[in-house]
Order: sequence, then structure tokens, then C-alpha cells
Amino acid sequence: MKKSILMAILLVAIGAGGAIGYLKYTRSSGQTEVTAATEFCVEHQIAEADCPWCDPAIVEERGECPEHGVPEALCAQCNPALVAGFKAERDWCAGHGVPESQCELCKAGHLPPGEEA
Ligand SMILES: [Zn+2]
Ligand SMILES: [Zn+2]
Ligand SMILES: [Zn+2]
Repeated sequence: MKKSILMAILLVAIGAGGAIGYLKYTRSSGQTEVTAATEFCVEHQIAEADCPWCDPAIVEERGECPEHGVPEALCAQCNPALVAGFKAERDWCAGHGVPESQCELCKAGHLPPGEEA
């Protein structure tokens, strides 16, 4: 009986030690990851190098999307990773699934159901 209790304590101790070791490991590897790739824009959920809101120069650099007639760096149709950023900027037309500032349907007065002008 005593033996099994001891074994249980031992197993818990090993498990806790393992967990701490794991936490230390993930924490340190996380740090190296952060230093290696500091360039993530948390606010817009996109790589800082691709964040047109934090660095408007990107918009100039990439020019226009020939397919969609909007700035390439702000083309959510070509780059769905931008959607979270548009939402963070409160520039997202949920009714039409495009950025509000690029929503031709809204501009033309065709508001999605439930939205007033
Ligand atoms: Zn950003
Ligand atoms: Zn496009
Ligand atoms: Zn719209």
C-alpha cells in the first residue's frame, strides 16, 4: 500500500518535472522564434512586412491589383490573410464579404440586408 503511494508521488513528481521542462523548452524556443521573426503585426494578424496599415509604403510599392482594381497590398480577394486586418480596422463589409472601403455594392447603394445607409 505504502509502496504504491510512493510510486504515485514519484510519478507525479516526474510528471511535474517533465511539465516544467516542457514549459521551459517551449518558452525558450518561443523566444528564439520571436527574435527570429519579430515582424508579426499582432493588431492586424499579418506579417509586419505585409501589413499595409502599419506600413502604407507597401501599398505604393505593390501597385494596383489588375484583377480586382484595388491596391494589391490591400486586395483581400488575392490575399485572404488581410481579412483579419480589415476587420481590426473596422473596414469590413460582412454583408458582401469585402473591405467596406472597396465595396462597390455598398458604394452603389446596394446595402446588404439589415444595413441602413
Ligand atoms: Zn499592422
Ligand atoms: Zn486582387
Ligand atoms: Zn458592402
